Amino acid sequence: MFNLIIFGAPGSGKGTQSERLVERYGLHHISTGELLRSHIAQGTPLGKVADGFISHGNLIPDELMLDILAEELDSHSDAAGVIFDGFPRTIPQAEALRGLLAGRGSKVHAVVGLEVPEDELMTRLVKRGAESGRSDDNPETIAKRLEVYHRQTQPLKQFYTEETTFHPINGIGSVDDIFKSITLVVDPLKDAAE
Ligand code: ATP
Ligand code: MG
Repeated sequence: MFNLIIFGAPGSGKGTQSERLVERYGLHHISTGELLRSHIAQGTPLGKVADGFISHGNLIPDELMLDILAEELDSHSDAAGVIFDGFPRTIPQAEALRGLLAGRGSKVHAVVGLEVPEDELMTRLVKRGAESGRSDDNPETIAKRLEVYHRQTQPLKQFYTEETTFHPINGIGSVDDIFKSITLVVDPLKDAAE
């Protein structure tokens, strides 16, 4: 298995780059945000719980998130590897992921962080909210999500700098250029893992 984490603030472009990475490396894409939104759209019990957290810009509780993630990993145990998008978002999630992968004889091979300045994140997310109507892409909720990111998620940079290797990537520019920068980092890691 080859496991890659795409890391970054809300609106940093994780989803966009993940689509490309899936194509290039043949990985299974796990976007926790998309998983949760699909539960919300289907009106499942989990979706109802998740909606209360997401629409206020909060993270859903770690235990709940970890149950969902473990199930998703189990139902794709034959995958050549996974790209984690939007997960982990807290230190306990990162520690749990290490355990889940170790239990499957694997680990995180690479962490790529998309670096985008705050004012650009805000501009992108407000624009996305206007186009997609995502309930959490309004200025008030975005500000809350950015605050949550700084407090709960950003410490993972340090965690992964010590744990594996954290690769910061400039997340400003064309989608193609950013993708190219990511592949320059990931190609050799992927080769080394085989
Ligand atoms: P991007 O635009 O870069 O794809 P995002 O932050 O806009 O990122 P998602 O990753 O789709 O969007 O997440 C949307 C919401 O889903 C989060 O604000 C949070 O409430 C919830 N969520 C997603 N992943 C997790 C997680 N790992 N732990 C807790 N809550 C999560
Ligand atoms: Mg996303």
